[in-house]
Amino acid sequence: MSNLTTPTAEQMLHFQAWRADALQIMPYMASIAFSLRPVNTTMVDTFAVDPGHRLYINFENTISKGKRFCAEGLLHECSHLLAEHAMLAETGGVKDDERKAWNMAGDFAINDDLRDAGCDALAAHGVFAKIIGEDDYKSPLYYMDVLRRLQKAAKNKPKPQPQPGEGGAGEQDDSGDQPDDGGDGGGESGQDQTPMRGCGSGAGGQKGNFELDDDDSLGGKAEAASGVEKNLVRIAAASAVRQHQEQKGIGSVPGGIAEIVDRILTPTKTPWERVLASYVRRCVAYKSGHHDTSYQRRNRRRMNEEMCDRAGNVLGRVIAPGYIKPIPSLHFYRDTSGTMSENDMSLASSQVIAIARKLGIRGNDLMVSDIDTDVAHTRKFTGAASLDEVHGRGGTDMGRAIEHACDLRRKPSAIVIATDGETGWPQEPPSVPVIVLLVNLRSDFWRENVPAWAHVVEVENHE
Ligand SMILES: [Zn+2]
Repeated sequence: MSNLTTPTAEQMLHFQAWRADALQIMPYMASIAFSLRPVNTTMVDTFAVDPGHRLYINFENTISKGKRFCAEGLLHECSHLLAEHAMLAETGGVKDDERKAWNMAGDFAINDDLRDAGCDALAAHGVFAKIIGEDDYKSPLYYMDVLRRLQKAAKNKPKPQPQPGEGGAGEQDDSGDQPDDGGDGGGESGQDQTPMRGCGSGAGGQKGNFELDDDDSLGGKAEAASGVEKNLVRIAAASAVRQHQEQKGIGSVPGGIAEIVDRILTPTKTPWERVLASYVRRCVAYKSGHHDTSYQRRNRRRMNEEMCDRAGNVLGRVIAPGYIKPIPSLHFYRDTSGTMSENDMSLASSQVIAIARKLGIRGNDLMVSDIDTDVAHTRKFTGAASLDEVHGRGGTDMGRAIEHACDLRRKPSAIVIATDGETGWPQEPPSVPVIVLLVNLRSDFWRENVPAWAHVVEVENHE
């Protein structure tokens, strides 16, 4: 990390001046702009962010570009953080080799709003959706789909058309990079000293090899923002946007930003992750965090109450808080039969990632199996990449998932079966709690076909 330094007093004066100018343009970005932890480095071209709100600045390069350029660059990075593009990449199933394209999709989605808010320098040098023949004001997920299609088409041509790469802070770049060529460009490949273009992992883009780890704070000067702080900062920005709209009119805030703010201030429509999490907690035996076999004895001394199912079987115990952290273990079955479209598959995969995040589990505690008429492949969930390989693609029998789970030596707390529902089911209630995650249900028939002993949650792609 020798390439990172805390900014000098003179550099901080520049940074503060840029921030003041930025807030003249978009005053409601104040809470995010003030949450940034500036770090000086020559490893980025201009600006990049990480999910901990550390802002990597190449002061040497940016100061000469002028105050206005830098002020708008700050707003660009703040927009990535406000829109949570890093998190959206995970739930959108963006793969590691698609990070550059995702960065660009995010840039398209924010630069139109920044231009509308009066970022004139960015209007001149930024990347916009028109370079891929698309209109402004679409979501990053939409642009990502288009970029994927373009990339597929380019691969099939003998001589691929040069496509624009993304510059730092959403700038144009004439390097001719393919949007997802996975080139290192100062990325994670280690020794490369070329400054990275792109907005960093805080934008969901390529992670620079210079980025600080979560627990690295550059000697206390650039500690990563905690989840709580990030939430507070985003809610403060959202409230400021609402206030701005009240005082200056709805149209005084760009549409894309108003949409993000609506999402921040409105609870999600189907909080299925919460439904699932509470269901899992309800029917699951808590585990001590040491080893399974000892938990019952330990719990008896500390428990407050037992939880039973309707037949009176003890399912688990509520532990006095502070002693034991409940860690459920799940086995996730991904229907890979032929009726599951690629879109269904990617939605199912994104649900695994969402579960991992919501319940804070992975590895041994979150196993994932592909299943069509039989279990084709089982692995520990260790991140999005562990779901890339898809096995199966034949007929459908989700009953096999249940048999498989019941035969496991280490029984999961519950199993989740993500399926389009177009399958038969056993009529007998199984010995393990079953959550059926119906993905993009195509007919009510398949919902009614699920036996009453299963807990049903439905998910659909939201675009
Ligand atoms: Zn960007």
